[in-house]
Amino acid sequence: MAILEKGQVAFAFSSGMAATNAIFQGLQAGNHIIIPSDGFYSTTDLANEFLYKWGIEVSRIEMTDLNSVKKAIRPNTALIWIETPSNPTLKITDIAAIADLVRGKGIKIAVDNTWPSPILCNPLELGADFVMHSATKYIGGHGDVTGGIVVCKAADDFSEKIFKAQTLAGAVPSPFDCWLMNRGIKTLALRVKQQTENAVKLADYLASHSKVELVLYPGLVSHRGHEIAKRQMADYGAMLSVQIDGNAKNALAVTGKLKLFTAATSLGGVESLVEHRKSIEGENSPTPGNLLRVSVGIESADDLIRDWEQALG
Ligand SMILES: *Cc1c(COP(=O)(O)O)cnc(C)c1O
Repeated sequence: MAILEKGQVAFAFSSGMAATNAIFQGLQAGNHIIIPSDGFYSTTDLANEFLYKWGIEVSRIEMTDLNSVKKAIRPNTALIWIETPSNPTLKITDIAAIADLVRGKGIKIAVDNTWPSPILCNPLELGADFVMHSATKYIGGHGDVTGGIVVCKAADDFSEKIFKAQTLAGAVPSPFDCWLMNRGIKTLALRVKQQTENAVKLADYLASHSKVELVLYPGLVSHRGHEIAKRQMADYGAMLSVQIDGNAKNALAVTGKLKLFTAATSLGGVESLVEHRKSIEGENSPTPGNLLRVSVGIESADDLIRDWEQALG
């Protein structure tokens, strides 16, 4: 993983959340961190649950807006957490621009690179200090393992703290899970290539469908983050969100009709999945009720498109 992400050291964890938590545990009381308002729900939950208790201040901001990042920086800011494309609305954050902004200020940048995988984006090369992966997703690739990875740009005091959070706090993966993650890495490049090709075709199809209100996919020229994604990613990835014409009921009806897309949480596996995010995140979530998050697998693109055709029909 260190080689794939072009870092000096990598640590494996029992889950993506354990990996995220290990980076947080490298912080100190009195520190301030900045996290995105649109991102993996449990990352926000983890910050709310523990960081305040540990005396760490948290600002939750619109990370795609450089001005709000600039305004949020305080003298005690220690870490900026980036997730791009974001979950579930696929907002694109300019990693290099934020790295430029904080250069020389002693602020670390961590990027949740779960969605692009190391095949499509290498945040350390764009100026980040840490990359975090939920290996449960593309690294494992078969929906049969939970795991997490942190890759550090440098072997230094902070990476030593991450190592201690991994070992002393017992966040290590089991030997069998490590074996499964290693098996996944062998086919990662092939899977991501096929998944992305399928996603591009599906996004194009859905974007022109009369029962679809909006397709959120950075590969579409109409997507707000398209130009940045083109610069910082090798390709646009296999995650997309679809807002169905109508409301939550209509969106849920579509998930019930799809046959090849299993309605399930998680993502990044060989099989295509679809998920109604608002049902998972709860009533207070800002996610639109008509939004379905789609993880595109390695099946035939024609079969996948036909499945949406019959479901929307
Ligand atoms: C799934 C996921 C996580 C959490 O990973 P787990 O392995 O489920 O703990 C974090 N970030 C993103 C973007 C994810 O998709």
